[in-house]
Amino acid sequence: MRTFDYARAQSPAQAISSHAAPGQPFYLAGGTTLLDLVKLDVMQPDRLVDINHLTLKQIEPLADGRVRIGALVSNTELASHPLILAHYGVLSQAILAGASTQLRNKATTGGNVMQRVRCNYFRDGISPCNKRNPGSGCAAIGGHNRSVHAVLGTSEHCIATHPSDMCVAMTAIGAQVTVQGPNGVREIPFSDFHLLPGQTPWLEHALQPHELITHVTLDAPLANSRSAYLKLRDRDSYQFALASSAVIVVMDGQRITEARIALGGVATKPWRALEAERALVGQKADREVFTQVGNDAMQGARAYEHNAFKIPLGQQVVTRNLRDLTA
Ligand code: SF4
Repeated sequence: MRTFDYARAQSPAQAISSHAAPGQPFYLAGGTTLLDLVKLDVMQPDRLVDINHLTLKQIEPLADGRVRIGALVSNTELASHPLILAHYGVLSQAILAGASTQLRNKATTGGNVMQRVRCNYFRDGISPCNKRNPGSGCAAIGGHNRSVHAVLGTSEHCIATHPSDMCVAMTAIGAQVTVQGPNGVREIPFSDFHLLPGQTPWLEHALQPHELITHVTLDAPLANSRSAYLKLRDRDSYQFALASSAVIVVMDGQRITEARIALGGVATKPWRALEAERALVGQKADREVFTQVGNDAMQGARAYEHNAFKIPLGQQVVTRNLRDLTA
């Protein structure tokens, strides 16, 4: 058994400064990813800094129309908050499509952003895995790579999908991640927060050492928009996406005047489909257009031995979502 130190922080500054002690530290919030991976010996902290007593549990409207979410707001609270239900339906739907009620009660907004991959080779603790053990190789590329492996944003070093549903909706909405660290407070655009695996799959996000997520601020909602999250999976609950889409559109009669499209389950990070959005704006809501937009959303996809089905499935999850949303 490995031992580790435990510290409880009362403020972000205290949490950050307690990270300055030697050894590998991790912030503990809901623990729904971290504690699993510590038990599996995949994450090996020398010290856990418990941040559950920080005052980061508010959901607040800002004067400019945006909504600021504390990092410790639970997934359940976020999905059911009146502001989110009224203006960001796609976010509420995405959160409720993920995990189970018990997990959503514990899981936090910041923790969901920091979720680790579900690749079996990463979690088994022994297979070659560049993410867990840099330079060891990627067992998934020549191994079993069906459900939690990507066709977009992959590299020869890692092909694991990003597992979050919440982050797909936030990618479509647009958001900023506020982080606090030894050098002060800074904002990271949500679309830049998660990194592609490239040559360095062990680097998963844009946080600098010891930085702590304090808030996620959603962009102001598009006026008169409608939105929906559609998730396709092997089992209808408590299962990760094979392909999902978060779609937001504004319509003038039958014509689409604004569009946001993001995909999950098919890419190594929450995937904004900008080309598909451009192709949709100005078009009439019609089945042929939606089929073309679904194809555009999956441009550049590359299949591996067991996951070629994700390319047509990704096209379908966009096409179907658009069709239902505009019906
Ligand atoms: Fe590791 Fe990524 Fe390969 Fe999975 S896909 S074994 S997480 S390097």
